Amino acid sequence: MKNEQFNNRDISNEYFKVDIEDYPTDPWGKFTRVVKRTFRGELFVGLWVVMREMIKFDTHTISYPMEKMPIGPRYRAVHEMKRLWESDTERCIGCGLCEKICISNCIRMDTKIDEHSRKEVSEYTINLGRCIFCGYCAEVCPELAITHGGEYENASEQREHFIDYAGMLTPLDKMKAGTQKEFEGFGAITPHEDERVKKTPLAY
Ligand code: SF4
Ligand code: SF4
Repeated sequence: MKNEQFNNRDISNEYFKVDIEDYPTDPWGKFTRVVKRTFRGELFVGLWVVMREMIKFDTHTISYPMEKMPIGPRYRAVHEMKRLWESDTERCIGCGLCEKICISNCIRMDTKIDEHSRKEVSEYTINLGRCIFCGYCAEVCPELAITHGGEYENASEQREHFIDYAGMLTPLDKMKAGTQKEFEGFGAITPHEDERVKKTPLAY
């Protein structure tokens, strides 16, 4: 019954009828059709747009890689591992939250107990070949240790460059120069964070 209804339905309002009777089949007819279509007004509209922009001498492109566009601080590029300002040691406490939350399963880490009986990270790698730059690891980190930086040019011929922890860690000379960027990168705190976070009353 359903099939009958389907076959007998009025489709005149549902589809456009394509008229193919005028379609030329001889070579000359086909040629003239192509010429007519090519030299319609659209071609000249396109040419006019190009000419207009050429005359204006406005540059719409940059000479990449010699020139680079600035990217927003919230852009999620290759990760950065931050250090503590006071001691220059790594902020990462090895809690493992980033490893657990990573949906691409690309963070591998290991910890050990140091001579002061404190846990320290003995191994930490992010396989950037698998990473989808979702930002979860940076969001979940309680120590603001891992953030996304602005380095988006991460092509390499060497696979090991994609898991380079030392390359992600702020270099010590940068710490000495005081140029570790604290308030930049996805996952970092913003300059006005104190104003945005409600203080817990002391009597609570
Ligand atoms: S969440 Fe932060 S502190 Fe915890 S292991 Fe990852 S980077 Fe280290
Ligand atoms: S950005 Fe996402 S996929 Fe990449 S390491 Fe962090 S949690 Fe994993």
